[in-house]
Amino acid sequence: MQQSQPGSRVLPVLSNLINKHSEPELPAETASRRWMYSQMTRAVIKKIVRAPFSIHTWAALRRTLMSNFLPDNLLYRYKAYQRGECNRCGLCCKIQFQCPFFVDEGPFNTHCSVYTTPHAPSACLKFPLDPLDLKLLQREVGQACTFYYEGAPQKLSILEFVRLYTEGVRQQFAKRKLKEAADSAD
Ligand code: SF4
Ligand code: SF4
Repeated sequence: MQQSQPGSRVLPVLSNLINKHSEPELPAETASRRWMYSQMTRAVIKKIVRAPFSIHTWAALRRTLMSNFLPDNLLYRYKAYQRGECNRCGLCCKIQFQCPFFVDEGPFNTHCSVYTTPHAPSACLKFPLDPLDLKLLQREVGQACTFYYEGAPQKLSILEFVRLYTEGVRQQFAKRKLKEAADSAD
C-alpha cells in the first residue's frame, strides 16, 4: 500500500543502526512500543511458517533484502518505467494474514498506521521494486493491483551490477556525511 513517502534514507539497515539511539514517536494508532514490536515479530514468524507453502514469503523476503541492502541507484532503476498508482484497495496488506497495522475504513479507503513513521517496513515503502516484484504480488491479489510497468532499463551484467553497487554505496555515504555536516552546523 503506498502513501506519501518519508524522506530517503541511506541503506535503511545501516541507517537504522546508526540512528539506534533515537526513539521516534509512536504512530497514533499504536498502543505501545512493546505491542508494535511484538506484532512485527509475530507477523515475521507467521510469514516464515508459511514459507514451505507460499511463494509470497519468498517474494516478501526478496523485497525486504533488496529494499534494505541495495543503494538507490540500483533500487530505483525501474521507477522511470513504473505506471499507475495505489488505489488503496488494501489487498497487499491481507496476503496470508491481515497485517496488524492495516486500517480499513471502507472500500478503497484503507491505510497503514505505520507507513509515514520510521517504523514502516522498507519492503512496504518501496513496493513495487521491479516487474518481478509486482508480478509476484499480482499473483496473490488476483491481478488487482493498479501498478504496472511500461518498458524496462537495460539488463546489467554482473560486473556492471558490482560497479553500480559500489558507486551507489559510496554516493549514499557521501550524501549522509554532507547531511550530518549541515545538521551539526545548524
Ligand atoms: S506495514 Fe502492514 S499495513 Fe502497513 S503497508 Fe505494510 S503490510 Fe500494509
Ligand atoms: S494491492 Fe496495489 S493498489 Fe492495492 S493497496 Fe496494495 S499497492 Fe495499492
